[in-house]
Parts: sequence; structure tokens; C-alpha cells
Amino acid sequence: MLFNMLLRRKILKLFGLSILFVSLPYQFLKSATKKIINPDLTKTQKDIMFNEGTERPFTSELLKEKRDGFYHCANCGAKLFSSKAKFDSGTGWPSFSEALPGAFKTKIDYSFGMKRIEYHCANCGAHHGPYFLSLTSPVLA
Ligand SMILES: [Zn+2]
Repeated sequence: MLFNMLLRRKILKLFGLSILFVSLPYQFLKSATKKIINPDLTKTQKDIMFNEGTERPFTSELLKEKRDGFYHCANCGAKLFSSKAKFDSGTGWPSFSEALPGAFKTKIDYSFGMKRIEYHCANCGAHHGPYFLSLTSPVLA
């Protein structure tokens, strides 16, 4: 019982959110093996994670999440972020200053007239969000 309570406090599920990153190491996506592992993903989660969709700003349940723990991939359960890296970017999306080492692979997306780096779970290939170079270019320039 106590173990379950502690485990629940330590694990926060990341439900296929669009996430703004300040800086993450470049590790380019080579061959993402996108595969639905979790049969309980909602239609919205599937759209975000496998069709590179985006949720509307200020709609995420985790926007104001402040508990200590880790954020996991909703598809495969891989650890992606520590709660220590979460911050309020004012954009309306949960934002993190850094990911756990090796958690993501990236690819560059030039759609909508801007350069974005899309982050995919290194384990299952599910899409987890963009990094907008225009907002934070001094970090990687
Ligand atoms: Zn995953």
C-alpha cells in the first residue's frame, strides 16, 4: 500500500503533450519505429503521438502539475523528464528545460514557414512535441 502510494507520487504520466523545450541535445531521428504499444491511448493522444498533432494551449491537465517525479511516455512508459526540469513558459504548454539523457531523438520540421525540431521518444518513436528555434535560438546558436 505504502509502496503503491510512493510509486504513484513518483510517476506522472505524460499524455502525448506538445512540449516546448529550452535546450536539448541534438540527437537526430534516424529510423523511428513508431508503434502503438499502449492500447489505451485516446484518439487525441494517438493524433499527437503518431500524426504529429498538437493540443490546444492551456488545455493540458499537466500544465499546472507540480508534484515531484518523472514524466513518462504515455505509449511505452519510458522516462522522459524529471519534474525538476519543468517550468512555466507562459505558452500554455507544459515546458521543460531539459530531457533525461537519451530520452528523445529529433527531426527538423520546416512546415508552417518556420524551423522546428520535433522530439520523438527514443524508445518507441512517439512524437512528444516541438522545440521552437525562434523562441530560444540564443541557446543553440
Ligand atoms: Zn515511448
